[in-house]
Amino acid sequence: MKKLLVFLFVLYTGMLSAYQVNVRLFSVMKVSGVTVSVYSGQYTLWADHKHLNDTLANGVIQLIAINDSIEIRVPGDTLGRCAWFKLEPVGMNASFRIKPTNINTGTRTYDDALRVNAKGGLLQTVNTADIEEYVGGVVESESGGNTVKEFYKVQSILCRTYALNHLYRHTLEGFDLCDGVHCQVYRSRTSQQHIHDAVFETEGLVLVDRNLSLITAAFHSNCGGQTANSEDVWSLSLPYLRSVPDSFCLHMPHARWTRKIAREDWLSYLSLKHKYPVNDSASCYQALNFSQGSRSVYFTHGNLRIPLKTIRSDWQLRSAYFSIEEQKDSVVFRGRGYGHGVGLCQEGAIRMARMQWSYQNIIPYYFKGVSIIHLSKLDFFREE
Ligand SMILES: [Zn+2]
Ligand SMILES: [Zn+2]
Repeated sequence: MKKLLVFLFVLYTGMLSAYQVNVRLFSVMKVSGVTVSVYSGQYTLWADHKHLNDTLANGVIQLIAINDSIEIRVPGDTLGRCAWFKLEPVGMNASFRIKPTNINTGTRTYDDALRVNAKGGLLQTVNTADIEEYVGGVVESESGGNTVKEFYKVQSILCRTYALNHLYRHTLEGFDLCDGVHCQVYRSRTSQQHIHDAVFETEGLVLVDRNLSLITAAFHSNCGGQTANSEDVWSLSLPYLRSVPDSFCLHMPHARWTRKIAREDWLSYLSLKHKYPVNDSASCYQALNFSQGSRSVYFTHGNLRIPLKTIRSDWQLRSAYFSIEEQKDSVVFRGRGYGHGVGLCQEGAIRMARMQWSYQNIIPYYFKGVSIIHLSKLDFFREE
C-alpha cells in the first residue's frame, strides 16, 4: 500500500485533474463490433499510429473485429484494417457515444479517450477518462440519479476511494478497472448536473484508515436497521467496518422484503445440503421458525452452524437479515434491508442528507475511525 500511495502522490502532485483511469467497457459481454460517434468536443482519430482524416470524426464509424484486427467502416465505405484504433480528445469537454453492433445494450456516452483492440474476433474497448469524470459515471450507475447533492458527495468519496484502492486488479489484462460489479458499475458518464457538482466539490477526497491506507469503501443499498461487521460477511475483520444501528433507513424503499418458499423445498435444502435433522420434530419446528432480532451470523442448531450469508446466496435473498415463520405448506422469509450490509447504507445516508447532515458527519457514522483526506496530502501526513 505504501508503494501505491507514493505512486499516487507523484501522479497527483499539483495536477490532480490530469489523473486518468483506463476502464474496460462492456467487460462482461462478447462484443464483436461497435458503432462510435463524437458526442461533444473535438477528437483526432488514430489507427496503428496513423492519423486519420479529422472529418471522419463528424460521422459514424463502425469498428468490426476480424480475428485479431479491426475493420474500420464508414457509411458506404470500408477504410481498411488496423491492430488498434483510438479516439483521442483535443481540448476539454470531449465525449463520445458507443454502442455494440451485436448486443442490445443501448448507446452509452463517455468522456475523454477510447482505445480499441481486437482478439479472436472480439473487441476490447477501453475508455481512458479523468478519474473525476469516471467517478461521476460510477456514482450515477451505483446510486441512481434522483437524490440530494450531499449524498452524492458521500458516494463520490466512496467510489473514488474504492477505485484507487483497486487500480491493479486488471493490470495484466491491459487496463485498470472493468465497468462491471467486479470493480464498480460504470454505465456511462453522468448526465446529472448535481452529481457532476458533487464529484467536483469533493475532488481528490478519499477515505483512509489510521495507517493512512485507503480503506475498503464498501456500501450497500439498505442495511435494514443494523449494518454488519466485515468479518461476518467476508473473512476479513477491518476496524472501520463495524456493525452500527441505523434507524435512518427503516422507512426507505428497500427496508423490508418477503419471500415465500415451499416448506418441503426448505426442509430438503437443509437436510441435503447441511445435514440438518429435519426428521426430528423439535428440530423441524426450529427450522420452520427462526427469529433474528439484531443481526446474527449463523442459523444454528446444536453444533450445526449454517452461515446466513450462504442461505442468502443459495436462495438469492435480498439480505441475510431475515426471520422465518411457518405458514401452512410454506415458510415465509421476512427480511430487512437489501445487500451485504457492510459499510455505508445508501438509503440511510440519503435520509441523513435530506435531514441536512453533511458528508463530513455521514461518513464517520458508517466508517469508524477513518479520515477524509485529499490525496495530495497523504504523503505529507505519512511522513509526520
Ligand atoms: Zn473488475
Ligand atoms: Zn441502514
